[in-house]
Amino acid sequence: MKQHVYADNAATTQLNKEAFEAMVSWLLDEYGNASQSYAFSRKPKKALADARAIVAACINAYPEEIFFTSGGTESDNWAIKSSAFGDAKKKAMITSAFEHHAILNSCQSIERLGYPVIYLSPTAEGVITPNALKQAITKQTRMVSVMYANNELGTIQPIMELCKVAHENGALFHTDAVQAVGHIKIDVQELGVDMFSASAHKFNGPKGIGFLYIRKGTELISYADGGAQESAHRAGTENVAAIVGMAKALEVNCRDIESNIEYVRGLETQLLAQLSEAGIDYVRNGGSKTLPGIINLSFAGADGEAILHRMDLMGISISTSSACDSVNIKISHVLKAIGLDETLAKGTIRISMGKNNTEDEVERIVQALNKILKS
Ligand code: PLP
Repeated sequence: MKQHVYADNAATTQLNKEAFEAMVSWLLDEYGNASQSYAFSRKPKKALADARAIVAACINAYPEEIFFTSGGTESDNWAIKSSAFGDAKKKAMITSAFEHHAILNSCQSIERLGYPVIYLSPTAEGVITPNALKQAITKQTRMVSVMYANNELGTIQPIMELCKVAHENGALFHTDAVQAVGHIKIDVQELGVDMFSASAHKFNGPKGIGFLYIRKGTELISYADGGAQESAHRAGTENVAAIVGMAKALEVNCRDIESNIEYVRGLETQLLAQLSEAGIDYVRNGGSKTLPGIINLSFAGADGEAILHRMDLMGISISTSSACDSVNIKISHVLKAIGLDETLAKGTIRISMGKNNTEDEVERIVQALNKILKS
């Protein structure tokens, strides 16, 4: 039996072995700068082109629509800031109140510069409805950004419909798909989105690498000025090994997506059934349409942070949404946004399982929760 149980896959995932193996030669042997014109740089240059084509194929995009970045945070910053600054006449932005801080803090930055931002509230089930967007959008809206799936609740948003509302009103649409890519099927043509953020370490790729999909023809200001990398939109010598690793990880996850979904959903069903069998009362937050493996649970009267620490002592890594000090409880902005009662919010944890978890591990999680909650 494995000693450590890792059940925080929404925070990061284990690097795929195939991705690791694909990276090694680009670190040790083929270390040439992909921008140079001599023969030693030909292979890294080709590796970048191949990786771009693989990533594009996984989401049904064109290779020239994929821009490599340092991860989800950078992709989100790029999408929000460059869109805002791209049109002096259209300054308003719309996002949701339960986005990741990469979006929320980027929005606050542009607000300080005089760009108005509206934060839509999700329903109690953790969904931004097209109707809520219809009521907020105006002809002054430059861009709408709503996450594909929420990182605490796992709830999947009606992206295609939201995107349609944005386009009908002449606005661009961006989605932070960091939690979803590589875990559920995504087709950017079908969705119609203009921009889309992704991060490799959330889909069993390396950390510190990601991409921003930018639909052809979308006007966008460069993120980093300098060399001509990434079509002169994001300067800086490319991290070839990480890019190759990301492409391999995404390719593998997309290849196995159906079986991974079925497997992880099975673990999810097992966990909830065993919690009930053990007589543990819980509330599952978020509606029924969630990403596979993300389970947000509240236990009335319990303390989520204490559960996290006790599980940690038992060798199990999970996460919590609300942190307490001796006086205050700091409830996560996500739980606040869905209007969760404070006593439930205080006793909330997130268990996020992935393709590397096992049934035995689920049993250990349930046993640990049973021990903690009944003591
Ligand atoms: N967006 C979402 C929804 C996330 O869950 C995360 C990471 O937790 C990020 C953005 C930031 O991604 P990165 O860690 O690659 O900067």
